[in-house]
Amino acid sequence: MNALLIIDVQNDFCAAGKLAVHNGDKVIRPINQVIPKFEHIIQTQDWHPKDHLSFASNHEGKSEYEQIVLPYGEQVLWPDHCVQGTTGADFHPELNTLHTQLVIRKGFRKEIDSYSAFFENDKTTSTGLHGFLSSLGIKRLFMCGLATDFCVKYSALDARKLSYDVTLLTDAVQAIDLNNSKDSALAEMKAAGVDFISSGEIDTALNG
Ligand SMILES: [Zn+2]
Repeated sequence: MNALLIIDVQNDFCAAGKLAVHNGDKVIRPINQVIPKFEHIIQTQDWHPKDHLSFASNHEGKSEYEQIVLPYGEQVLWPDHCVQGTTGADFHPELNTLHTQLVIRKGFRKEIDSYSAFFENDKTTSTGLHGFLSSLGIKRLFMCGLATDFCVKYSALDARKLSYDVTLLTDAVQAIDLNNSKDSALAEMKAAGVDFISSGEIDTALNG
């Protein structure tokens, strides 16, 4: 059984958002095109309280995109983004969310960030997604959304660790690309056994 996992296609990661990913909006068209091919569609939603520890504004003297060390490891400090209940945290209005079966919210605990759809950044706190997928017999995940080098990458790597087959839709992701993080993310995913296809190859991939 297959599922489509749509990562964080939210206003703040798209054009004019608080943490806009370059060309972030461009993922929407290919994602909307593949949605009808799937019976199971899951979305993630970054969902932070205002005082979240991943925000540079909550660390006096620190700048945006600076890296700090928190009890669970290294953490990039971001501009405030995807604050609970704000328009920035909403899904992009052009994304087709009608068929979404489950929304996994993440990053809602003040003291811990969550890039992956499966585990928070301490790598042990589960989001519950694995249990959901397991109970439906879903073994293969097609991934898309934002951003390639953070939430998509960590979700893909965790999915591989949990023995899912993972296929990345290469034209339905976009990267933040801090210090060449896009290329290293693609290399890490490839090394972990993630398959790469374009959204135009979806029929072959699903029927092959
Ligand atoms: Zn976030």
